[in-house]
Amino acid sequence: MELRVEHTTLRFATPLSTSYGELAARDLFTVELDGGGVVGRGEAAPLEAYDGVPAAAVAEALAFYAELLREFTPDVPGHLLLDACRKAAELPEALAAIDLALWDRAGKRAGRPVAALLREDHLDVIDVNATIGALDRAGAARAAGRAAAEGFGCVKLKVGTGDDAGRVAAVRAALGPGVALRLDANGAWDVETAVRMIDALAPAGLELVEEPVHGVQAVREVRARVATRVSIDETADEPGALTASVADAVCLKIGRCGGIGGLLSQAALVRTTGADVYLASTMDGPLGIAAAVHAAAALRVDIACGLATLGHFADLDEAPELRVVDGAIRVPAGPGLLGPDR
Ligand SMILES: [Mg+2]
Repeated sequence: MELRVEHTTLRFATPLSTSYGELAARDLFTVELDGGGVVGRGEAAPLEAYDGVPAAAVAEALAFYAELLREFTPDVPGHLLLDACRKAAELPEALAAIDLALWDRAGKRAGRPVAALLREDHLDVIDVNATIGALDRAGAARAAGRAAAEGFGCVKLKVGTGDDAGRVAAVRAALGPGVALRLDANGAWDVETAVRMIDALAPAGLELVEEPVHGVQAVREVRARVATRVSIDETADEPGALTASVADAVCLKIGRCGGIGGLLSQAALVRTTGADVYLASTMDGPLGIAAAVHAAAALRVDIACGLATLGHFADLDEAPELRVVDGAIRVPAGPGLLGPDR
């Protein structure tokens, strides 16, 4: 089998401010798995500033996989191909590209969307949130007003960046009472600050606070002391975090889970604890977003997912299958991840 890898750089329309620093662009690896018949496509979207995974490490792992996959014929079952790649280099962000390509190929072979391969009664539409990165009150309020006008039912505001109280108040005023407001601190607070900030911001009406602090123990302490729902994102990567029962919800990502298969396994573990699951992208490309939409549809996720992120890129070809309408993305109905010709 031939694995073709294309490395591109996607620029953000405006530099992305995170508590990790400012990002102007991201690396994206698009792969084609070609066995002479149906071609499956996938992508790896490491974001070193966020997940600590350098693009060079992904490029190296994908080169290993390409060499190894050359030894296999197209009739070898997908899970064996994935196992072989995992043995060669266990890097979830790179394995995700292979996993996605295999699911895309399976869907194209069956003539069905990936969500339908995963679950018969999958959702048809996934609610998604808008994300506000503006660091000033006026900018945040403008973005919130736009999101509400576009029909988003949930807006996520990055906090831990400075004027949190002023921005939360401005955003709530711009949203009105009917739109859910989620905060994401990306672990910027310590326990005492998190408790103080969440108590101070809660009167604005918060759906949940994502990653207020880093680490299972710290999240456990915060959650015991605040009435607001708390979720984990980065901390989900800590060993044992998925079953630690420290949060009301867990945010899962295609790249970090090593693809759709890994994400479904992790979601099942989280749900054994009674916690909710939702999905988000790490500023993924179209194939990563499509994979997350199919997985969320199969998991019947009913919390807004952080998948409305393709609009942050300046020079991306439009992906009409993934257009956000009224705060939701419809599950692509064509075969595979995005349809027969994608
Ligand atoms: Mg987050």
